[in-house]
Amino acid sequence: MKKIALVSGGTRGLGAAIAIYLRSAGYAVAVTYHHNADTAAEFRKNTSIPVFCWDVSDYAQCQEGIRQVELDVGPIDILVNNAGITRDAVLHHMTPGQWIEVINTNLGSVFNMSRNVIEGMRERNFGRIINISSVNGERGQIGQTNYAAAKAGIFGFTKSLALESARKNITVNAIAPGYCDTDMVSAIPQEVLEKIVTGIPVGHLGTGSDIARLVVFLADNASGFITGATFDVNGGQFMA
Ligand code: NDP
Repeated sequence: MKKIALVSGGTRGLGAAIAIYLRSAGYAVAVTYHHNADTAAEFRKNTSIPVFCWDVSDYAQCQEGIRQVELDVGPIDILVNNAGITRDAVLHHMTPGQWIEVINTNLGSVFNMSRNVIEGMRERNFGRIINISSVNGERGQIGQTNYAAAKAGIFGFTKSLALESARKNITVNAIAPGYCDTDMVSAIPQEVLEKIVTGIPVGHLGTGSDIARLVVFLADNASGFITGATFDVNGGQFMA
């Protein structure tokens, strides 16, 4: 029987690439989104991958959404916590709303989603949880105290859950992408983006497939000795 993977924020950007790569690798895949129903419908039409709509920053919605995915598709073996947002502002201009929204969406969601799959994974004695962090969670970034704090929080979560889950054949790892060519990055002003690209040693942005190939590798049954790790995929921009 096919293993089942759920990718949050999987209708566009990195999540869409991850979903398509996992499907090509033989998994049954489901994805979530939140606001952009047209893009989700287009993704569904082009890929036939089932899409589910809920807000990953809300615990009750994650509980109900995951219950629905498990009813429609089956028990989740692989969870990719990918959904994320930016609400950039330097701290002296940042509003409490910008802080909370990013913390809840980018870090709270990792709890909300993982909490609702971990018991099933433990019962079945198998699981792969892959958390998408960011290079900016490792090195900080002007205008991103909220985003960098959330993404750095993912590292502690990942290591702790990896320790709790190791004896149950559940691995938990983080990927820290550098700047990749998605809607999130195209929102950066052109002149700022050009400067960023100049600082990437390989000389270009990453792509969805740069990240998705690693997700497929970590999801594999044979990757059971890799847990609690962070993988940098950033074109050499930051070396921890
Ligand atoms: P995009 O903005 O292209 O896509 C974000 C996805 O997340 C969309 O599917 C969106 O749904 C979904 N989403 C956002 N908020 C919520 C929410 N509250 N509930 C459910 N779904 C939600 O992002 P990227 O593909 O660029 O980024 C994916 C991940 O990778 C993020 O965690 C990001 O922080 C991280 N990352 C990205 C980098 C990059 O350069 N692109 C670099 C480093 C890390 P909808 O379409 O409905 O809005």
